[in-house]
Amino acid sequence: MAKNLVIVGGGAGGGSAAAEAKRNDPSLNVTMLEQGKFVAFAA
Ligand SMILES: Cc1cc2nc3c(=O)[nH]c(=O)nc-3n(C[C@H](O)[C@H](O)[C@H](O)COP(=O)(O)OP(=O)(O)OC[C@H]3O[C@@H](n4cnc5c(N)ncnc54)[C@H](O)[C@@H]3O)c2cc1C
Repeated sequence: MAKNLVIVGGGAGGGSAAAEAKRNDPSLNVTMLEQGKFVAFAA
């Protein structure tokens, strides 16, 4: 069964964490929660 990862915050740190987690384990289900209207797009 795939593991789930929930990241709170869609800023630079959240996007970087999500990308790195998927690089390490592509089968991870990653959910990023952002309270604002926009997430960072650089990462
Ligand atoms: C005025 C200013 C100008 C800057 N200019 C530059 C620049 O020109 N170049 C540069 O490289 N850096 C710049 N920085 C620094 C850069 O913005 C930060 O280093 C970077 O945004 C930090 O990213 P972060 O993901 O750690 O935090 P944040 O960007 O603060 O992201 C955290 C996110 O978490 C969300 N959040 C918080 N609590 C919750 C919750 N309970 N549920 C859901 N979401 C939540 C917030 O809405 C936010 O989007 C600037 C910073 C400031 C203040």
